[in-house]
Amino acid sequence: MTKAYEIEDHVYDAIVVGAGGAGLRAAMGIAESGLKTACITKVFPTRSHTVAAQGGIAASLGNMGPDKWQWHMYDTVKGSDWLGDQDAIEYMVRQAPEAVYELEHFGVPFSRTEEGRIYQRPFGGMTTEFGEGPAAQRTCAAADRTGHAMLHSLYQQSLKYDTDFYVEYFAIDLIMEDGECRGVIALDMNTGKLHRFRAHSTTLATGGYGRAYFSATSAHTCTGDGGGMVQRAGLPMQDLEFVQFHPTGIYGAGVLITEGARGEGGYLVNSKGERFMERYAPSAKDLASRDVVSRSMSYEIREGRGVGEHGDHIFLHLDHLDAETLASRLPGISESAKIFAGVDVNKEPIPVLPTVHYNMGGIPTNYHGEVLNPSEDDPDRIVPGLMAIGEAACVSVHGANRLGSNSLIDLVVFGRAAAQRVADVVTAGAPHAKLSESHADMALGRLDRLRYADGELSTAEIRDKMQRTMQANCAVFRTEEVLEEGKVKIDEIAGLLPDIKTFDRSLVWNSDLIEAMELENLMGQAQVTMHCAANRKESRGAHMHEDYPDRNDDDWMKHTVAHLNDNKVEISYRPVHDYTLTDEVEYIKPKPRVY
Ligand SMILES: Cc1cc2nc3c(=O)[nH]c(=O)nc-3n(C[C@H](O)[C@H](O)[C@H](O)COP(=O)(O)OP(=O)(O)OC[C@H]3O[C@@H](n4cnc5c(N)ncnc54)[C@H](O)[C@@H]3O)c2cc1C
Repeated sequence: MTKAYEIEDHVYDAIVVGAGGAGLRAAMGIAESGLKTACITKVFPTRSHTVAAQGGIAASLGNMGPDKWQWHMYDTVKGSDWLGDQDAIEYMVRQAPEAVYELEHFGVPFSRTEEGRIYQRPFGGMTTEFGEGPAAQRTCAAADRTGHAMLHSLYQQSLKYDTDFYVEYFAIDLIMEDGECRGVIALDMNTGKLHRFRAHSTTLATGGYGRAYFSATSAHTCTGDGGGMVQRAGLPMQDLEFVQFHPTGIYGAGVLITEGARGEGGYLVNSKGERFMERYAPSAKDLASRDVVSRSMSYEIREGRGVGEHGDHIFLHLDHLDAETLASRLPGISESAKIFAGVDVNKEPIPVLPTVHYNMGGIPTNYHGEVLNPSEDDPDRIVPGLMAIGEAACVSVHGANRLGSNSLIDLVVFGRAAAQRVADVVTAGAPHAKLSESHADMALGRLDRLRYADGELSTAEIRDKMQRTMQANCAVFRTEEVLEEGKVKIDEIAGLLPDIKTFDRSLVWNSDLIEAMELENLMGQAQVTMHCAANRKESRGAHMHEDYPDRNDDDWMKHTVAHLNDNKVEISYRPVHDYTLTDEVEYIKPKPRVY
């Protein structure tokens, strides 16, 4: 197979696939340690989805009132509905303040308080005094463009170090030999040339797979390519049944209105004009965690209290806030509301609906970013040479539900942790093992098959079926019946892939081919998401199962680990870590999750 294509060789100590917040932070750190480093990315770095993050980044700086990492830890564990690994959570919240100061020094233009400190806003589920005190103001923000500011600063910084960027290169598959990762095969979309990147360490930072659904706040590029590569390598994915719906996507467009809008005082109302969140979350109200707010909105709509002509959405009011706050703290969303809903936020409410926003599940890793391939004897067994970070990974700090502003901090904390690990285990200039004849067969076979695919169905047709099925059968409301039907449907749709037709045979700027590869990546994760959702007979965090409305810690406090083999999902489990990283803090015992 390798003979059919000419491949250009590159030899590195370490490579990173992805140049979002996670990938850039890792690549920068690895290069800084003196290793020869490449960063491969399918879009220009500053176009990665991180650029769209609005609300902010969580860290217990205590700039607006008392705060400490122990409270942040408690909130994150509770937010995760006790599915998060507490060693990883402790690591993240303790590193968070330093990571934010680092960003400040990198040049992120944070909004400021009167005294010139970093401004912090309230966000859902962030509290003080272990949930007993008032809401914490913990989310550091650069107006409502935090991700934009962060990504640009990280990219600028990374140019200081000697990272080689391969921009608009699409990674097709991993090079796996003897259970180890030895690099990737990628396509330069500009020239149509294939490239082999050899490395002692490969870090996947490819982002989430939100585009498996019909309505998502994520970019069209969020197609879970890293997860697809991992699945084809015969490795498992973890906890994919946990998909976060953001309460406030603009109705019809899916474009995000940040939770920061409610942090600044915005509130939701139904068709009767009621502030219904007071009923579902008496103390946190509109700032309860996302799963709780999304579910409450869906209840209201189902009970006939939705707004609009079809009674199928909810209103978000910001019109009571003063114009200056809106202009200074939320300028971007004022613009989005105007463009995508035709609404002037100073005068009218914004029509909103829960929309797919974040994947809590992903490639299982430990808190160093090393990818895990659990076995019966060793649930924490690592895959040599392979790392994963950011939304592509499941470390797991977010468990069953991520708190808003905890992803951006996850990116930089674990991006840096991964870089440190790579620096520890890889020796600069160490020789590379000889590759087998077949090392590129998977990647090239796939490329060849899709390039010449001459079936009956276009990529767009199959993708549409997949997205609609995920939206209809695996969204906020889940029942035994809906999920069982979903399993059959999604497997059937995955079965259509061999019947795909592509139209362009060239390798240069062939978006048809790239979209077909992305669709395959999405499909595997869609299947696993549906099967794991049907499999989990309890309600926890974002997974609300109508027929099993309660959390069941006795039987289900465990991570789902799922392989996809021959189009079949095989499920096993891994224990949730019931210990902390240090003995400076105690394991937070499960209790009911009320806000
Ligand atoms: C609209 C929106 C608003 C958000 N707001 C917030 C917020 O305020 N606070 C917060 O904490 N979180 C927020 N989130 C979540 C957070 O932004 C994301 O989880 C996070 O940015 C993901 O970063 P990442 O580095 O993992 O991946 P991404 O930023 O998605 O980057 C993925 C990278 O991988 C590359 N890539 C992917 N596939 C391939 C391939 N096959 N070959 C080569 N390269 C590839 C891409 O080019 C890209 O560079 C928001 C998310 C959205 C969608």
